[in-house]
Amino acid sequence: MGTLGSSEARSRWFYLIALWIGGCAIVGLIAWICLRLQLQLATAGFCMLIAIVLLSLLDSFISSAIFSVAGALLLNVCFTPPIFSFAIAKTADLLPLLTFLVTSIAVTSLVREIRRAEQIQREQARLLNQTHDAVFVRDIDGVIRYWNQSAEDLYGWRRDEAVGKSADTLLKIVYPMARDRLQQALFENGHWNGELVHTRRDGTQVVVSSRGTLQRDDQGQPRTILETANDITDRKRAEETIRKSQAQFLEEVQRLSRTGSLGWTIEAGEVFWSAQAYRIFEQDMSVAPTIGIMRERVHPDDLPVFDTMVARIEAGDSSLDVEYRLRFPESRIKYLRIIGHAVEMHDARRQFVGAVMDITEARQADMRLRRLESDLARTSRITVLAELSASIAHEVGQPLTAVVVNGDVCLGWLQRAPLNVGEVERLVVRMREDATRAADIVRRVRRLVKGTPPDPVSIDVKGLFQEVLTFLRPELEMHGCSVLTDIARDASAVAGDRIQLQQVLVNLTTNALQAMAQVSAKHHLVLEARPGESARVILSVRDNGPGISEEHLPHLFDAFFTTRTDGMGMGLAIAASIVEAHGGRLWAVNNTEGGSTFSFTLKAA
Ligand code: ADP
Repeated sequence: MGTLGSSEARSRWFYLIALWIGGCAIVGLIAWICLRLQLQLATAGFCMLIAIVLLSLLDSFISSAIFSVAGALLLNVCFTPPIFSFAIAKTADLLPLLTFLVTSIAVTSLVREIRRAEQIQREQARLLNQTHDAVFVRDIDGVIRYWNQSAEDLYGWRRDEAVGKSADTLLKIVYPMARDRLQQALFENGHWNGELVHTRRDGTQVVVSSRGTLQRDDQGQPRTILETANDITDRKRAEETIRKSQAQFLEEVQRLSRTGSLGWTIEAGEVFWSAQAYRIFEQDMSVAPTIGIMRERVHPDDLPVFDTMVARIEAGDSSLDVEYRLRFPESRIKYLRIIGHAVEMHDARRQFVGAVMDITEARQADMRLRRLESDLARTSRITVLAELSASIAHEVGQPLTAVVVNGDVCLGWLQRAPLNVGEVERLVVRMREDATRAADIVRRVRRLVKGTPPDPVSIDVKGLFQEVLTFLRPELEMHGCSVLTDIARDASAVAGDRIQLQQVLVNLTTNALQAMAQVSAKHHLVLEARPGESARVILSVRDNGPGISEEHLPHLFDAFFTTRTDGMGMGLAIAASIVEAHGGRLWAVNNTEGGSTFSFTLKAA
């Protein structure tokens, strides 16, 4: 390297010395010719200046300065009296010599500057040509001003064909957003990145990753836009292939798991369904999904659930898990579960994203299991009832005995004269009442034993609560208990047997009063009705008593389970039987604020 460096320096010096000698010789020759031709100082100076400018193109400032000084000296020697001497007779002659020297140095410097700028430009153009990216420059009106080699290769137009044309027209550019917005972003930020679609000369389209950089003039006004475009068509195609295979994979998984997906851009009202969601809703895929179409499929009984779900999503509820039924022709039913949450999209719009699951099979299995459980419960109820038969016999026995006694008395009076028809009639009416009571008891017991569902009628929940409270008024007053009834609008009527449901509520309320008697706090009872899932209503009795200990919770509904010394442990078992016979479920929880709540479900009327 060292040897090479020094040999390079040597040859440079040779070049310089040769240039200086040669240059000075040329300037000298011009001086001699001008002298022979007896030209004036000014003309000779002008000829020399031209030669020096040309020579200055061969090297640096030092060479130009040497030639300028040599030229000035030669002009002094040859054209300024006394001739052939460096002396200057008149001071006035000094001025043209100095003017020559300064002009020569200034002009050669200027010429060299222009050359350097040209060289830099040429170098830059060469570099732009070498880059693999297609580069073109367009002015603010979109007219192409520069077009590099890679742009020729990528688009197929030669530079002379592209320059002067509008880029938008030539390349048929497809922008990802409105062109004005893009230009505005470019003016604001000075640059823009993104993907564009360009059309080549042969009509094929190419996807490019494009970067536009704004160039401004000295006044800061936008002047040109330098655009680089990188062909990403292959990458896009590969991405598309991956996306497609992922989509197929997802589609398969959705089909297997019977889970579709649902998207809903809330503000725009746009709904998206996956292919599996289309299958679940049994909707033709050519029809764009809407909330209206979803609502049309809802089972009429579950419309309140659906409407509540939609309202919750619209209100911005962040997550939800809802079950409802769909009804199809010939009364075919599907059970649906929707789990989802709201997400914020990149443009700050809210979208609900959810999974739509067809849980019909699971629900049907569940129902079969419930039926089995209820059969089992009925079997154990029969055992309970066998044990209860003694007390029932007493209940039935009591009115029957009354009938017999009254019958005897009646017979006695009938044989007596004169016959007191009024007395006899009163006794017969009482006998009929007693017999009806016994028959009623027998009928209900038979119904419980057989597990026959009660004949459901529509019952107004408010009325039901009032009947129970009227029935228990003496006890409530005795305990100084305040009562609040809270009935939701969607839970105002249930289907069931009024007497049996009264019995359930009376049992639960009596238990609540007995439990609250154990605490010193002011007794407070809440009877509540609210809508449940799958067209059900949940009725609850909440107290502020001591609550239920964890160890007792699993046994509450067992027959004969009691914690009270005078208790029989049958109240909750019978209440559970009645609720089950109505197709519902009874359960108990401890309240977080103390006390407990017994709730049961019933079909909404
Ligand atoms: P009984 O009232 O004859 O004891 P029940 O079947 O009605 O029979 O109740 C069983 C048990 O459940 C009660 O002994 C009591 O321990 C518990 N229980 C019922 N209701 C409540 C309540 N509201 N708060 C606390 N414990 C209760």
